[in-house]
Amino acid sequence: MTTSIIGFPRIGENRELKYATEKYWKDEISAEQLQETAKELRLKHWNLVKDAGIDEIPSNDFSFFDNTLDTACLFNIIPEDVKELGLSELDQYFALARGYHGPKGDFKALPMKKWYNTNYHYLVPQFFKDTKIELNAHKIIDGFLEAKDARITTRPVIVGPFTLLSISEFHDTKADLLYDQLVDTYKVLFDQLEQAGAEWIQLDEPELVKDVTGDKYQLFKKIYKELLKDHPKIKILLQTYFGDVRDVYEDLINLPVQAIGLGFHEGRKTAELVKSHFPDDKILFAGVVNGKNIWRNHYEQTINLLKSLQVKNLVISTSCSLLHVPYTVKNELFAPEIKNHFAFAEEKLTELTELQAILDGAGSEALRRNQALFAKPRVQENPAVKQRVEALNEDSFVRHPDLEERAKIQKAEFDLPLLPTTTIGSFPQTREVRRTRAQFRKHEITQEQYDDFIASHIDEWLKWQEDIGLDVLVHGEFERNDMVEYFGQNLDGYLFSKNGWVQSYGTRGVKPPIIWGDVARNQPITVKWSTYAQSQTDKIVKGMLTGPVTILNWSFPREDISQRESTIQIALAIQDEVLDLEKNGIKIIQIDEAALREKLPLRKSDWYSEYLDWAIPAFRLVHSQVQPETQIHTHMCYSEFTDIIPAIQNMDADVISFEASRSNLEILDALQQEHFKLQVGPGVYDIHSPRIPSVEEIKNTIHKILQKVPEQKVWINPDCGLKTRGVEEAKASVENLTKAAQEVREEA
Ligand code: GLN
Ligand code: ZN
Repeated sequence: MTTSIIGFPRIGENRELKYATEKYWKDEISAEQLQETAKELRLKHWNLVKDAGIDEIPSNDFSFFDNTLDTACLFNIIPEDVKELGLSELDQYFALARGYHGPKGDFKALPMKKWYNTNYHYLVPQFFKDTKIELNAHKIIDGFLEAKDARITTRPVIVGPFTLLSISEFHDTKADLLYDQLVDTYKVLFDQLEQAGAEWIQLDEPELVKDVTGDKYQLFKKIYKELLKDHPKIKILLQTYFGDVRDVYEDLINLPVQAIGLGFHEGRKTAELVKSHFPDDKILFAGVVNGKNIWRNHYEQTINLLKSLQVKNLVISTSCSLLHVPYTVKNELFAPEIKNHFAFAEEKLTELTELQAILDGAGSEALRRNQALFAKPRVQENPAVKQRVEALNEDSFVRHPDLEERAKIQKAEFDLPLLPTTTIGSFPQTREVRRTRAQFRKHEITQEQYDDFIASHIDEWLKWQEDIGLDVLVHGEFERNDMVEYFGQNLDGYLFSKNGWVQSYGTRGVKPPIIWGDVARNQPITVKWSTYAQSQTDKIVKGMLTGPVTILNWSFPREDISQRESTIQIALAIQDEVLDLEKNGIKIIQIDEAALREKLPLRKSDWYSEYLDWAIPAFRLVHSQVQPETQIHTHMCYSEFTDIIPAIQNMDADVISFEASRSNLEILDALQQEHFKLQVGPGVYDIHSPRIPSVEEIKNTIHKILQKVPEQKVWINPDCGLKTRGVEEAKASVENLTKAAQEVREEA
């Protein structure tokens, strides 16, 4: 029995790679210096993994930006126009990742998308008719040799051909026209690696955990038949993660590869599949240590699982690359009884070797310690929260009266004009705003000074909103750093790490808060500033909250209770806030669910049963108790919900705003077809760009919207919050928005 990992975080213990890369971008260090830092980090990480006792170690999991981009470059899947810039290889790579604008010309970055159900983003490879697939293997081979020099024989990792073709975009060409050329090039790579001394290669094929049926299944069959036809000399680990491979399991275990990697955490059916049959001549890389969450492994359960599989050749591994967890818990300041519950990337290495020892009969001490850890109740259990969850019944999730009835009541109550205008919540977070928040955090200014600052900002922006004639105002969210952290910091049951960074894309990281215990609200969170703002104007000021599903999805969730239960707890906490806002005279409350779509299961067939069936009721729970007069808004930062329109409708908000301008308002057809009942605010301009939309442009958009949605149901608003925009452009854009709405109203 041996141990392995799928990949290790490359950003470094103190994000050294981030800082070096950003310095290089700013011309503060040379390419050689950047390469030197990268090399040191690679060696440090290989040695760390080796010294922890891991037997089989990957290489080429390192990347300056993203492994999918690395794999695209490996096969020369690179648009011709970036080559015309004549940049160095490294600069061309960064141009693909971030765009280039300089003396050598212009190039727009490749599109970026979320990597399956994670918060990591990959760059989407682009195939054109003139794409010439060619091998450029020096990065992967140099990396292998670098490790070999350090006397570590590694297993190079790349994205497998099925996944690569499935996640790429094709312009004037198609995947089936390219696959044999691509597959041939993979085979050349196999030979070159083998000649360099590699025994193994790891092909990452997460696409196999999705629904693989019909044409997609045929493509998978064709690719692997061709790829393995001549039985390559190098041994292949076909690695999957983020789910189970139920559609192709039989095919996989019959492929002439030497090893298959399967995840047991998100792969709900993996154990069942393996127990049904796993061939003796193959190695199972059993992903039993969770690569996506930060809790200690439950050794007894894991050992029982591994034993029950009855597999002859077993490697104990992680469920996915450790890229998705922070580097180490070592330097965190949590109390020991808390810290003991956490395993970040470095600690997970020890878990793997301890599991190995226990299975080999040598780890009784480690097992005992682990049992003791799980035997003790966790610190922040909160019986009151548990009772409250248990007391919920069906009606707790239902708002009365129904939507149409409420719409009538609210219409009379608010007396808003046709096409009411509003914004999504935040106004520009200028350097001054951020600096003042930081000063307050560091106790450099008093509470009073801070409050004065926030109040004066609110005043200023309220006045501006009144002046330009917006109908529903917002306070501007100046007091918030981040839409999840702000709430987490004000809820019981949350913990924050000091250095728990996880790569999101390139040099950007996120530091997800940790749901440590039962979540409850111990005091009002937003009431102070919302009511302050409302007291300063005769117009309606919208209250502004983050919804429970988004709060959960952007945190490290608990594993000792279900995500459903955690979300319900959060929903009850936010419900308290909603009711307090209402009690304090806030008449419209927006509950943002920016990340609702993010955790949709990878398989469509699981969407409702595994997720939406509890996520949507959790949202309803937040607002189910409000009075009919109180208007509930929700907001989503995307418009790709054509496929879940009934679920969105079931959220039973009164109004929903969403991003629409970038996606050409396509969603509107779908809303029309499905007789969508809620009032809608399809964002009329793209806030992600500094461009100021003209009045004419916005009027055009409004007219397009009115062709699809009855005018009584339309709200006029930007795509999303304005916090990342400059003051001048934000003001000019929203001013044009209000003018456009007024002019269209007058036409009516
Ligand atoms: N209310 C938040 C804001 O305006 C919404 C942010 C978001 O949807 N990402 O910033
Ligand atoms: Zn948004």
